[in-house]
Amino acid sequence: MQGTEFSFNTVLLHGVDTYYPNGATHVPIYQSSAFRHENAEELEGIFNNKAMGFSYTRINNPTIEDFEKRITLLEGGIGSVACASGMSALFNALMNILQSGDEVVASAGLYGGTVELFDDLKAFGITTRFVSENVPAAYEKLITDKTRVIFAETIGNPKLDVTDIKSIADMAHAHNLPLIIDNTTTTPMLVKPLSLGADVVVHSSSKYINGNSDAISGVLVYGGKFKWDERYPGLLPYRKFGPFAYIAKLRNGLFRSTGGCLSPQNAFLNILGLETLGLRMERQCENAWELAQYLRGLDSDFIVNYPGFFDHPDHRLASEQFGNRYGAIVTVRVGSKERAFSIMNKLKIPFILSNIGDTKTLVLHPASTIAAHLSKEEQLQSGVYEDMIRISVGIEDVEDLKKDFLQAIKTEDITKTA
Ligand SMILES: *Cc1c(COP(=O)(O)O)cnc(C)c1O
Repeated sequence: MQGTEFSFNTVLLHGVDTYYPNGATHVPIYQSSAFRHENAEELEGIFNNKAMGFSYTRINNPTIEDFEKRITLLEGGIGSVACASGMSALFNALMNILQSGDEVVASAGLYGGTVELFDDLKAFGITTRFVSENVPAAYEKLITDKTRVIFAETIGNPKLDVTDIKSIADMAHAHNLPLIIDNTTTTPMLVKPLSLGADVVVHSSSKYINGNSDAISGVLVYGGKFKWDERYPGLLPYRKFGPFAYIAKLRNGLFRSTGGCLSPQNAFLNILGLETLGLRMERQCENAWELAQYLRGLDSDFIVNYPGFFDHPDHRLASEQFGNRYGAIVTVRVGSKERAFSIMNKLKIPFILSNIGDTKTLVLHPASTIAAHLSKEEQLQSGVYEDMIRISVGIEDVEDLKKDFLQAIKTEDITKTA
């Protein structure tokens, strides 16, 4: 079935061919490390890119390929590579392009793990420059003759600033540079970065795509449009694959050699989770909007951050780019670290843990956890404050969430004055 004539939720369910063996309505989990063949010639053909088929699950597998097809379709790309984690997808997406001596220009306030990855890449001679402000001119200022890629997230976490994907893609292309976008927090439900000019999209599919927080995984999608020239020597031998050069290099080179493949079981869990991505995101965005407004009304001293607010600096951009949805992460500054901890400890519904995109509401104190290794200045750059709680809003009944936050804040206030 061709998915393109359908809208988002139908594509999620019926977008790819679902004629599985024996009439199964789900893709079988091909829990097999390797695949046997009728004869030696067949396997020779597969190894030499002359025949379609599977040889070894580190390279590809039918269950994983089914997941990749769905993501390619949803993001509007030409091919995807599923990886063991979001970090593995980021590593593959970047290192497929970069070599020693190259530079990256990246947005500030990135996911902490990504900042650490850029730090690790220094040992391989790759330097990253972070913009001070998430606007095209700030990126442009940091471009040198060594820059080879621009990197940004759709919504910074926990800063909650919004990247103007089209403007930054236009700026990057004016310098003949590719743009990689991490679309984890928004998913193709809110935005398809490739359609706005991005060249590669990366997901930690551990988050909203999986939805149930039952499988760590990542995926990268390529749009097929970037022209790789001599500045990207590693890609030159793959130019014979035309628009598929970038994906071909991964499958025949880095991805296969570093071995960060997804497990078939986790690919299956992601496919299952994907079916409800639209419903979950819709509900989570609505709940986040309600809860953000409620928290703002609860205490005039709270500083609540949510791109859905009309007075959020990126509100207009978010409205246009994400179709009047603003994601499901809210942050609230409550006055002090002690008060933040006390409120978190008194909440009955949200789990205290470092994750986002679960069906369940999650709370975290970024300054003492995911941003603890950053200097004070870096924390402020990333929008992290000592008194800030990050909320990843789930699909619960929002009235229950409101009541829970009310009791946690009220009992906290009573203890405070006692
Ligand atoms: C979680 C996350 C990652 C890393 O993904 P893992 O699946 O945990 O490896 C990367 N980017 C963003 C925005 C994330 O939230």
